[in-house]
Amino acid sequence: MKTDYDVIVVGAGPGGSFAAKAAAKGGASVLLIDRRKELGAPVRCGEGLGSHWLEELGLKISPKAISAEISGSVLYSPNLKREVKIQNQETKGYVIDRKVFDKDLAIDAGREGAEVIVKTEVYDVMKEGGKVCGVKAYRMGDKFEATCKVLIAADGGESTVARHAGINSTASLYDTDFGVEYEMVNVECEDLIEIYFSRSAAPRGYVWVFPKGKDVANVGVGIGGLEKGNAIEYLDKFIKSHERFKTAQTVAVKGGLIPVGEPLKDLVADGLMIVGTAAHQVDPIHGGGMALAMEAGGMAGEVAAKCIQEGNVGKQHLIEYDRKWRKKVEPKLMRRLRLRKVLEKLDDDDFNSIFENLSDVDLDSLIKGDYKQVVKKVLVKRPQLLKVLSALL
Ligand SMILES: Cc1cc2nc3c(=O)[nH]c(=O)nc-3n(C[C@H](O)[C@H](O)[C@H](O)COP(=O)(O)OP(=O)(O)OC[C@H]3O[C@@H](n4cnc5c(N)ncnc54)[C@H](O)[C@@H]3O)c2cc1C
Repeated sequence: MKTDYDVIVVGAGPGGSFAAKAAAKGGASVLLIDRRKELGAPVRCGEGLGSHWLEELGLKISPKAISAEISGSVLYSPNLKREVKIQNQETKGYVIDRKVFDKDLAIDAGREGAEVIVKTEVYDVMKEGGKVCGVKAYRMGDKFEATCKVLIAADGGESTVARHAGINSTASLYDTDFGVEYEMVNVECEDLIEIYFSRSAAPRGYVWVFPKGKDVANVGVGIGGLEKGNAIEYLDKFIKSHERFKTAQTVAVKGGLIPVGEPLKDLVADGLMIVGTAAHQVDPIHGGGMALAMEAGGMAGEVAAKCIQEGNVGKQHLIEYDRKWRKKVEPKLMRRLRLRKVLEKLDDDDFNSIFENLSDVDLDSLIKGDYKQVVKKVLVKRPQLLKVLSALL
């Protein structure tokens, strides 16, 4: 096996595999490394993916990676008196099987020419004259070192690679959600993603039911990192309090951390690029990050290959990825972060009032980031929210 590559990508999740594929397509020699012995497993994801992303990313999902097709979403008020169904192009999608999906993406990268190695854990990066130039890893228990012109850190929410390279990539506890989820059978489902907003059921987060079939679903909860109690307690309480789960059986427990604050300030350094959850490229409202990771990975891989061809892999050249990403994606994420910070301040009474007084169309506008008219309408009924909601105007 070679030990010198143009590009090494650490992490074969959606972001890393997309980066590896794009870099290989651009003519670079690529090594894609993952510590897992089986890609995608264990699953740490609700597995929801909007179908509009397929065209945007040029992505084909194999039928075996699709657990269920979704026609829309339904949002519930805390007192469950009002539900809002949203069925449009934006809310159509899939609940996928990440054990198949992640492996398929790595296979795609391999087909494009990337070398893929699993059960290989990177524990440090190599540097020369301040520039990142390789990785140190344990491969199947043995020490392994490889050098590269560009290292792409796509190692997820608990990323250590960027930190070893000198970039502080740790999210504060306040900006981290803890998510836990049971895959359950005997849960009757429609083809809708269900979201339950309730501060008491999920402080600074929400509860979800994502159908994986007619009677199988991922049932999960995400709560803010600084909240009292743990996510499992909240999930168990929610399940116990709903008759619908009376005969439900848990066949898998999944969970993990989700950085839901601002994206990293630095996405590149000399010889280094950071993508996906490792770069906090996650939707702050729902914590979804697969598509954002793939989008960023594709951009990073393309820029890496181009910079290598031009013989310049310093920060001032790799920064093209940072600029492209910030221009295309960051403004939307920052708008969503503003909404999250407002939602975090609302209590269950506020939510109930908002649900009661807004139409389905209003709530859809809110989700799409069109705040002005909706805020005005809420304030008529709940003027005490003026200070909180003014942040959206
Ligand atoms: C409970 C929960 C529910 C979620 N639900 C959804 C959802 O429904 N929809 C959605 O879009 N997103 C969801 N997300 C977020 C989503 O899982 C991530 O945003 C997405 O996986 C990010 O992809 P990535 O490629 O950046 O990182 P990851 O998918 O995390 O991949 C990182 C890879 O790096 C590898 N790795 C890490 N460290 C090393 C190392 N030192 N050496 C070698 N390999 C390493 C890991 O093994 C892993 O394979 C959820 C997250 C959680 C925790």
